[in-house]
This record gives sequence, C-alpha cells and structure tokens, in this order.
Amino acid sequence: MSTSPKTSSKDSPGASSDAEGAARTSNFIRQAIDSDLAAGTYAQRRWAGHPTTADQHANGAIDPAKIRTRFPPEPNGYLHIGHAKSICLNFGLAIDYAGRCHMRFDDTNPVKEDQEYVDSILETVKWLGFGWDAAPVGTTPESNLYYASDYFEHFYRFAEYLVQSGHAYVDSQTADQIRERRGTLTEAGTNSPFRDRPADESLALLREMRAGSQPEGSHVLRARIDMGSPNINLRDPILYRIRHAHHHRTGDAWSIYPMYDYAHPLSDALENITHSLCTLEFEDHRPFYDWILERVAEGGFFQRPLPRQIEFARLNMTFTVTSKRKLQELVQSKSVVGWDDPRMPTLVGLRRRGYTPASIRLFCERIGVSKASQWVEPAVLEQALRDDLDASAARAAAVLDPIRLELVNFPESLEEACSAPVHPHQPERGLRHFPLTRELWIEREDFMAQPAKGFFRLFPGNRVRLRYGFVIECTGFEADADGRVTKVLANYFPDSKSGTPGADLYKVKGNIHWVSVRHGLPAQVRIYDRLFTESAPDAGGRNPLDCLNPQALQVVQAYLEPSLAQAKPEDRFQFERHGYFVADRVEHRADRPVFNRAVTLKDSWGAGK
Ligand code: ATP
Ligand code: MG
Repeated sequence: MSTSPKTSSKDSPGASSDAEGAARTSNFIRQAIDSDLAAGTYAQRRWAGHPTTADQHANGAIDPAKIRTRFPPEPNGYLHIGHAKSICLNFGLAIDYAGRCHMRFDDTNPVKEDQEYVDSILETVKWLGFGWDAAPVGTTPESNLYYASDYFEHFYRFAEYLVQSGHAYVDSQTADQIRERRGTLTEAGTNSPFRDRPADESLALLREMRAGSQPEGSHVLRARIDMGSPNINLRDPILYRIRHAHHHRTGDAWSIYPMYDYAHPLSDALENITHSLCTLEFEDHRPFYDWILERVAEGGFFQRPLPRQIEFARLNMTFTVTSKRKLQELVQSKSVVGWDDPRMPTLVGLRRRGYTPASIRLFCERIGVSKASQWVEPAVLEQALRDDLDASAARAAAVLDPIRLELVNFPESLEEACSAPVHPHQPERGLRHFPLTRELWIEREDFMAQPAKGFFRLFPGNRVRLRYGFVIECTGFEADADGRVTKVLANYFPDSKSGTPGADLYKVKGNIHWVSVRHGLPAQVRIYDRLFTESAPDAGGRNPLDCLNPQALQVVQAYLEPSLAQAKPEDRFQFERHGYFVADRVEHRADRPVFNRAVTLKDSWGAGK
C-alpha cells in the first residue's frame, strides 16, 4: 500500500473511518513540521549521492517528498502497542504531509537480532495498514525499506574522517576505566590518557580493529567532545566497539559495530530524513545527535539542512508491560503460549485477540502525542475496538454457559424458522436464519430456581421472550442429586412469535437468547481478561511474573447459532449480550470452531433488559 494521501478503503489509514478522521488533531510535532514547512527549511533538499534513497533519484535532484520520517525498530523482539503509537505517528505524518515514511531496521547490534523478528515486524506494519513501497510523489516511485547494517561502510568511512579531522580517537582503556573516568551527574569526567593520541596512531588502530586483529574490549573509538560537559552524553561518547560476532545480515564481514547514538543520526541523514521522532529518553542525546551530524556535514558528506530530532512521550499502559525484554520473559517462562498469545500486548497478540488495524489506529489518534508522561488505561484501547466493530461486526447468538431448556408443549418434529438482522442498523446486510426446536440451549444465568429481587428472566411461573422467537412461561426444572439445575421446563405460546400480528400483546420484561440443541454448533470459546493483576506490573523493580492473573484465560464449551458454520479465521462477530468475538486466526476450523473474546460489550447485561 502507498503512503500517498489518497486512500479510500476503511481498512487503510489516512482517509479511513470517520471516527479516526475526526479525532485527528494538531500536536506539537505537527506544529513543528508546519513551521518548518512554512519557513521552507526542508524545501530544497538535494540527494547527497549516497547509495540509499539516492539510488532512486538522480544525484543532486531535489527531494520530491515534503517531509521524511522513519520507523526504526531494532529487530530483537515483536512489536507491541507502544510501537503502534510510533508507527501511526511516523507513517501518519508522512501521509498527511505528502511525505515518505521509511521502514528502517536499526540492526546494528549483532548479538540480539534475528530474521524472525524482521519478518514479523514487516508483516505487522503492513497489517496496521502502512507501507513503504510508495506510489509516486512527483514522478519517482520509491521503495523505502532500509537496514542500518547496509550503511556499515558509510559509518566506517565517516569514522576515519572523524579521526583524521581530530574529532575522534581510539581509546585503549578498559571498560571499567572508561566508566570510572566518565564522572557523575554532579562531577565532571576526566580525560582518558589516550585522548591526545596522534590521529595517525588512532587511524592505524581503527584499521586493525576493523580488520579483526584486535581482541574484544581492547580498544574503542570515541568522539572527542568534552569530558567536563554537564551532559554525560557529550563526555567523549563511544562510537564503535570491537565485537567478533556474526551479524544476521552482514555475516562475519565486521569485527567492529557502531553504537546506536552514532549510527542513528547518520542513518537519518543518509536517508534524507527531515523529522526524526523518538521517545523522551533521547532528549539528552539530542546534543550529540546534532554534534555528530554537524561534524560529518563539515566533511562534505551531507547536504544541509540536516535532520531534526523531536522527542515525544512513550506510551505506557496500565496492567501491561511494554518492554521487549519483559515480553520475552513471559514467552520464555511459558506464562503465555507465545508472542501472539491473545493476552499479550504485542501487535500479533492483539491481532489474534480480535483487534482490527482500524481500532489500533483509532486508539493512537485518541491518545494523541505530547511531551507529558503518558499512562493509558486498557479501557481506552477496548473502547476503540468497540467503536470500530459496532458498525462492522455481524451479530450472532452464542450460549457460553449452556443449560438445556425444554419447551414441553412444542412438537418434537417441529422446526420453526426464525430470523434476525445480520446488523440491526444495516438492513441491507440481510437476515440470518436459525430454527427453533423443542430443546434449546440457554445461558445458565438466565434461570433462577428462586429469583433474586429484580430478576426478570426465567423462574418458575415467569414469562420471557426467546429473542426472535416465542414468549415462553417457565413451568419447572430438573436438578441433579447436588441440587444443580440440569434442565429448565417451559411452555411456549404459539401465537406469540416475534414479528407476527398480535405478538406484542404479550408483555414481558425479559428477553433471552438461545440456540437450538439440534442445530447449534459446538465451539471452543476463549474468554480473556487482563494478563496482570497489578496496574503497574513492573513498578519498583517488581517482577511482572509475580502478578500474573490466573483468570486471564478461561476456556468454555459453547453453542453457536448455525450461521457461524460459515465463519472463517479472523471473521469478527458480536455475540449478542456477550461482546465481540473473533474466529481464531490460527486454530479455528469449520469442523472445530475456536473463537476468542476480543472485548466485552460496553454495558454489561443487566436484569430486566
Ligand atoms: P527496547 O525495549 O529493546 O529498548 P524499544 O522499545 O525502544 O526497544 P525499538 O525497536 O528501538 O524498541 O523501537 C522502535 C521505535 O518505537 C522507536 O522509535 C521507539 O521510540 C518507538 N517506541 C518503542 N516503544 C514505544 C512506546 N512505548 N511508545 C511510543 N513509542 C515507542
Ligand atoms: Mg530502542
């Protein structure tokens, strides 16, 4: 899909659902972009001739994209709901401003990264409705999928330049010595004894480091800035480390790997990024971001204007963890079934749970973007899903906690055809059909042998309407030796069928759903709740594994109305009175239906409705 502004289908961002569009409001990042565009800051950017995006544009040509943003995950885990905020922000801005958003893997750390994560991240970003193979802005089509590891040669070339121009040196202290001399928040750092090493000597060492002839830990390359800076990030930060490690894309070609703070700004500049949006932890790193780009630009490697870093608050959600490491622990400890377990806040987990891409985009619009620390309740995410599914999901009847109801005056062989709208507000979607028979499944909670005060549903002597069927009157029940009700007995009134003349002469307060025992579809239904019992599962050093909610998954054997035999994996329904459900995308089969509850209905069912 394109990141161009013209999108039409509801399943795509940009011009998508009304709810999404209406919620889109300005924020401080949009204001910053507006003023940059008004000032023409980024209007005349030319391709610098690096073999990245420049492959797609003539060297020296003016960049046709008004802005360029990027989404830069490290492929060391699965994306989670926090990443959705960044994805929607970066890709969304590119759509709205006739720009481009680059999908870039920040794959500079050889140790923790893996192709499995790359594949999942790409699939998830596409699922959310965004793409990097863009339709033309102006005339040139572009593919904007990048890997920072493709820039290793550039990063290294810049490193040699920095050494030669006096802006970097090889330090041969141990890691401990470097740490000790870095100083503290209140105390300045101390210069390394190697800081004044001649450039030639640093260069020779750097080349040996690259060639793999120096052991790990023996040297690092550092920027020469200021060990007395009040900002620790400017106290001669490390640019390169020796690592004799195999990289998932570059193999054994490299023995040195760049640090994130070095690689990230350079990747942005190589790709002609205009606005580099990151989370607030990087605010103190911005001076170094600007410093390194200035130095390399002075060497003539980049054209100005240089990319601009802007920070925003990360999304935190209560009753959830959004750290890749902690999510990994949940998987490894088998606390959940896998990364896509529907209890997980990963995007693959939310997808399996029944979340739609539009609901996640709507959620991201609603939470907005600001600098203030952001804690969001899961209820906000759930409401976005309801608001999306209310309009789209077909209705169906499902009995989740079944008990038999026998209509004792209903002929055994009779099948009474009943029907209901697929969607109550969209008559054009037609009707669902389901037969009513002598034996039905109803919800156990819809019957009480001794009714509590205010209970209007089935109890001996009381009448209710079987939704889309007949009015019935309870005549009794059967129970087992323990007193547990095994069957409810009732008479039906043949002239009371919904929609027939005279049916509304029957006045009843209760209206219950049902499924024919003969025609009902047995199904496994999974009822999900919060994964953690604490609102901040990882606060104060707590191990999230210590506050797992044992009730987070309940599996029930349910009966569904027969029309659901046609359901395909990922089809979503509103099970009347119960909530929104999805046919499990992995395990659902026509002959073995499996549904997940995505979210409850807004209002829980009350007595008398
Ligand atoms: P890690 O937990 O491994 O440090 P990370 O959560 O920062 O990683 P990255 O893969 O580096 O994950 O993230 C990719 C992008 O997503 C970054 O630009 C980051 O700012 C953004 N991002 C990550 N978590 C959140 C969050 N909770 N809210 C908003 N943006 C986020
Ligand atoms: Mg990160």
